Amino acid sequence: MSFSTLGLSEAIVRAVTEQGYTQPTPIQLQAIPAVLSGGDLLAGAQTGTGKTAGFTLPILQRLSTTRSPHARGTHRPLRTLVLTPTRELAAQVEESVRVYGKYLPLRSAVVFGGVGIQPQIATLRSGVDILVATPGRLLDLAQQRAVDLSTIEILVLDEADRMLDMGFIHDIKKVLALLPPKRQNLLFSATFSDDIKALADRLLNGPALIEVARRNSTVEVIDQKVHPVDRTRKAQMLMHLLRERGWSQVLVFTRTKHGANRLAEVLEKNGITALAIHGNKSQGARTRALSEFKAGQLRCLVATDIAARGIDIEELPQVVNYELPNVPEDYVHRIGRTGRAGAAGAAVSLVCIDEEGFLRDIERFIKRPIPREVIAGFEPDPNAVAEPILQRGQQQRQGHRGGGRGGPPQGHARPAQAAGGGGGGGRARAPQGRRGR
Ligand code: AMP
Repeated sequence: MSFSTLGLSEAIVRAVTEQGYTQPTPIQLQAIPAVLSGGDLLAGAQTGTGKTAGFTLPILQRLSTTRSPHARGTHRPLRTLVLTPTRELAAQVEESVRVYGKYLPLRSAVVFGGVGIQPQIATLRSGVDILVATPGRLLDLAQQRAVDLSTIEILVLDEADRMLDMGFIHDIKKVLALLPPKRQNLLFSATFSDDIKALADRLLNGPALIEVARRNSTVEVIDQKVHPVDRTRKAQMLMHLLRERGWSQVLVFTRTKHGANRLAEVLEKNGITALAIHGNKSQGARTRALSEFKAGQLRCLVATDIAARGIDIEELPQVVNYELPNVPEDYVHRIGRTGRAGAAGAAVSLVCIDEEGFLRDIERFIKRPIPREVIAGFEPDPNAVAEPILQRGQQQRQGHRGGGRGGPPQGHARPAQAAGGGGGGGRARAPQGRRGR
């Protein structure tokens, strides 16, 4: 099956072919006809499956072959709204819209917080067909009457589970109230919690249901290893691995923003180019770090889970979990940054005794053990005693959200308990990233 037999125009197929895609991915095979049919869609797909093109291509097709019922003269009404949880994902989705729509006379724009609102207002005023937005900034713009959502024909909620995790449900409801009742709704989510099901029930009308293999069943292409290490020797081990294995481009994950900053500093001091990327950094700093990393000028990008959401780097060969996440799903999202679209990748986790419980939770979640490999010279102290993770920076607030308005801080610390003490099963799942900034 090719893109042209899916009912996409020559202009779209040409743009896709130029990207080097020859075959639609499984999500694209199912989502493209479903979206073209005009009905609602509930899709279970994680990032890395090709889901962005799965909704972008048929939307471009629909918009380029129909006229907005609200079009008057030269006025260009807004026709499609894509909501995303993070600025990075918003920017990436809008870039995809531009790339795939390069031979079409459609205009797109992206709006998110953390950057000036005036240029966004000016862009919206000039007329846009497809708007990609984070919820907070979109509401700010709507409040200032800089955007009219009453002409929307297609709504996409991308990574809806993450939006709910980040506390955006109230903002989403406010946005929904500004949309016309008759529209096509597409909801993409990696997981289906009760909250997502409730949102889907409210939002979708007889949706087509699509579910492609979850990342945690497709992660076979990613070579995963755990390197046991003492908690005080992780930075040394990372530098050792960088040297020994000649890694040139590594995405490194920490649990906290503070931890990301500290590690980036240590690496820099030791002559390894590194920058931290997280919700406390300005949008400019985040964009710069990401583009330097993509361009190969930066050896290590040190990221927190939320900041890394949606980062898509072609052929990123290596991910390092400097600290394990306390939510097993985040492990899958993290290692999914490598081995994308079928490419091979590798993910190593530096695990100290405090994190043994997290590791057990992760292995249970991905339904397989991760091979352990002790690195010579870094054998962990057999007499070490586990310490609660909370005592070492977990209580930090994780701020992250676009938009310039107030909100409760996010990142509830999980209850103090000795990780690695008595099995991982009883660990409370910390609510991920309540919204804040
Ligand atoms: P996504 O899940 O939308 O984040 O996409 C994951 C990656 O797959 C991106 O780097 C896309 O550029 C790439 N991709 C999307 N569709 C295809 C395709 N049909 N063939 C190969 N790569 C693709």
